[in-house]
Amino acid sequence: MIQLNPIAVHEMLVHEQTLFAEKHPQSKANFQAGQAHYLYGAPSHWMRRWSGGFPLVAQSAQGTHLRCVDGQDYVDFCLGDTGGMCGHGHPAVTEGVAAQLSRGATLMLPTEDAQWVGQELTRRFSLPYWGFTTSASDANRAAIRIARMVTGREKVLVFNGCYHGSVEEAHVALGDQGEMVMRNGIHANAVDHARVSKVVEFNDIAALQAALADGDVACVLTEPFMTNYGMFAPKPGFLDALRAACTATGTLLIIDETHTFSNGPGGCTGAQGLQPDFFVVGKAVGGGIPVGLYGVSQAVAERMWQVVPKVNPTEVRQSAHLGFGGTLAGSALQVAAVRAVLTHVLTDEAFGRMVALAALLAERTRSVIERHKLPWFVALMGARMETLYHPDEPFDATDVKNGRDGVLESLLHVYFMNRGVLITPFHSMLLMCPASTEGDCERYLQVLEGFCTALIARCEAR
Ligand code: PMP
Repeated sequence: MIQLNPIAVHEMLVHEQTLFAEKHPQSKANFQAGQAHYLYGAPSHWMRRWSGGFPLVAQSAQGTHLRCVDGQDYVDFCLGDTGGMCGHGHPAVTEGVAAQLSRGATLMLPTEDAQWVGQELTRRFSLPYWGFTTSASDANRAAIRIARMVTGREKVLVFNGCYHGSVEEAHVALGDQGEMVMRNGIHANAVDHARVSKVVEFNDIAALQAALADGDVACVLTEPFMTNYGMFAPKPGFLDALRAACTATGTLLIIDETHTFSNGPGGCTGAQGLQPDFFVVGKAVGGGIPVGLYGVSQAVAERMWQVVPKVNPTEVRQSAHLGFGGTLAGSALQVAAVRAVLTHVLTDEAFGRMVALAALLAERTRSVIERHKLPWFVALMGARMETLYHPDEPFDATDVKNGRDGVLESLLHVYFMNRGVLITPFHSMLLMCPASTEGDCERYLQVLEGFCTALIARCEAR
């Protein structure tokens, strides 16, 4: 195995960032101007995380291709960190959304699309009852709130390395001594995590059982395959043990498939027959229109109706708040977007192609890595693949953390951008959409080949 030289990696990063700045003067100037208007230079703080030192300013995007204001063309494997999994500007989404926009975007009334969408959600993800929110973060919050309402418990258990959006309870991690700490980058903000959160390592059944045994956890919130701290899979039997431990302790199970929807048309839940009490999905399912969805099991719905009756009492004119969702949740526009996506875009057939292409890309990436004797691991989950820069398959966040090389990852991202390939800035994740082609993958593989050769030559020269 090749040993990388950290000084050589750092020198290459400086060189590539200089090149990036030279190639993108307008994007750079735009980001500098944005400092006067935005807290972190751009409309969302996430946008500054691209490793060029500033984000590209996008001019247009179509299918898998994106063009920036500096006139460069990119193959986009980031796809908005999955929000763009339909491919950019998909005609069916554009038509469905534009048609509804012209008929009324938000009416505080259901449209006929809602019946089709409700039925389709159950067909794909199996849970019988659904609610809309405006983001996956908010859908997780709704699920947590219901879990607390029906269990009367306060704590939420999450796994180390998780990300579930701006859900306060999930902003925790395991410290070096196994203690609960705030997640890196999170600052104390008066939320008492000791009161509301618990965190254990993914795949650690004994720790999970011990944490639930106290009987104070309302719900476990997890992805069925972790994607947000490097991709790591459940070990055989782990998800069954999780379900059993929840059932045994009266804890509710929220499966968050916001990212793992890329596993296939029904996410991991559909494919593996998982039996969550709540199911959450967002981002891609709205084709770019802000949508979150939470599904609820029959048993949880019945408990919920005992707390908050199904039929509104006629004498109550005020204070009928349920405490979740918002006025734009379930809007005609959102429902039309989900209908267009599930009917025409993220279909069984499209997933078949996307998953096959991702598998091919993973296999060919592995062979480039092996040929160059680099100590890297390629993870694959449905239409999504990711390279981790250490040799062994990780099974929890500590495995990932121990093998992480932030400078190498930053270098790789900017090197790829300089050669027309966009990879998700927070991970080295590549996602397929229905418009992805073997030609797109070829472009990535060519750049990877050049990257490995240049990296090794630079390290050997040092
Ligand atoms: N759940 C998971 C698993 C996610 O990865 C994310 C976002 N990356 C969210 C929830 C939150 O989604 P949003 O930012 O759209 O609220």
